[in-house]
Order: sequence, then C-alpha cells, then structure tokens
Amino acid sequence: MKNEQYMGVEVSPLSYEEITQQLKTRVQRLEQSTIIAVNPEKIMKAQEDATLRDLINGSTFQIPDGVGVLLASRLSGGQVRSRVTGVDMMDHLLKLSAKEGYSVFFYGAKEEVVTKAIDNIQEKYPALKVAGHANGYVQDQEALIQQIQESKADVMFIALGSPKQELWIRENKDRLPVKVFQGVGGSFDVYAG
Ligand code: UDP
Repeated sequence: MKNEQYMGVEVSPLSYEEITQQLKTRVQRLEQSTIIAVNPEKIMKAQEDATLRDLINGSTFQIPDGVGVLLASRLSGGQVRSRVTGVDMMDHLLKLSAKEGYSVFFYGAKEEVVTKAIDNIQEKYPALKVAGHANGYVQDQEALIQQIQESKADVMFIALGSPKQELWIRENKDRLPVKVFQGVGGSFDVYAG
C-alpha cells in the first residue's frame, strides 16, 4: 500500500499487523528499518523545519500516531483505518521480538525509569531477550555505541524525545548491527508505570 502525504509529510496507511509482518520480512533480509510517529503537531513543525520533514520522510514507516492524521486521511479518501500509536507499535514489536528471538536494546529516559520499564516488559514477555540498556543521560557516546555493537541487538527503542531520538538514529544507524529502530518518546515512562 502506498504512503499518503499531508502537507508534504509522508504517512504510512498500514496496520500494526501489516507493519509487524513487513518488519519480520525485512529483518530476515537483513534490511534496516526505522519507525517514526507522525502527529499533526509534527506535520505543522515540518513545514518550517526541513530537517524534521526529511527525518520523517526518510523513515521506513511513518505511523499515524494522532487522531488528527486519521481524520485527515478519512476526509481526503485515504487508506488510514486506525491510529497506530508509538507505544502500541512498541508493544507489537516487543511481542514479535519475543516470538522470533530478536534481542532488544533500550536507550533513553532516567536510569530508574528504563530499568523499571524493562522489569515490567520482561514480566509481560518472559521469553524476550534483553540485549542491554542505557539511560538517556549518558555522556560518553562512543562507549554507548560500543556497548550496543557488542550487545548484537536486533531491535532498539530510543526514548530521548522528538526529534532528538530521530537525529540520534540517523547519526548512528550505519555503524550499528540493529535491524529495527523505533523512536518512542515517553513510552519507557508508560511501561515503568
Ligand atoms: N530524555 C532523555 N534524554 C534527554 C531528554 C529526554 O532520556 O536528553 C527522555 C525523558 O527522560 C523522557 C523522554 O526522553 O523519558 C521524553 O519523553 P517526552 O514525552 O517528552 O517525548 P515526546 O513523546 O513528547 O517526544
């Protein structure tokens, strides 16, 4: 299914299940994927911020997180059928990872938040392989990159807020073994409860 465009910003009309299926295929082919959440606020910001627009449009999946995007699609005869939120997409990806044996790295939020989030996630998905974690305030980026490389993570969630997390992904993805990157904003806080 083709992407839709709202004010020059791409939106993927795929469901959680369709994205999950495509991610599985792309991991098998060793293709890297990036997932970014799109909402009306980001679409407006992207009008004046070409970097943000390129970050969104250069991602593999632009998920329609935000009811405004769903409404815009409905009103213009588009194919978006429901919201695809960042936190629910993360949950689908965790479930897929537990099932397929993908190891997952968590980067972002305060130390106590990311560790509590991982505890709760492991309780929900006992089979999940956690490759490692780092809080979002670590200073030594080179040490972090080395840690992720050595962890051999397949999937990585980055919770630094937007667009910081997307800029981080763009800057570092080529030197990491990770196949799927998702910028998840405040989702570690949600999992930490
Ligand atoms: N954060 C971080 N490092 C930073 C700035 C923010 O780890 O340098 C974390 C912060 O602790 C919080 C998340 O990023 O867990 C930001 O969540 P927010 O809800 O502000 O992001 P949004 O979803 O609005 O992009």
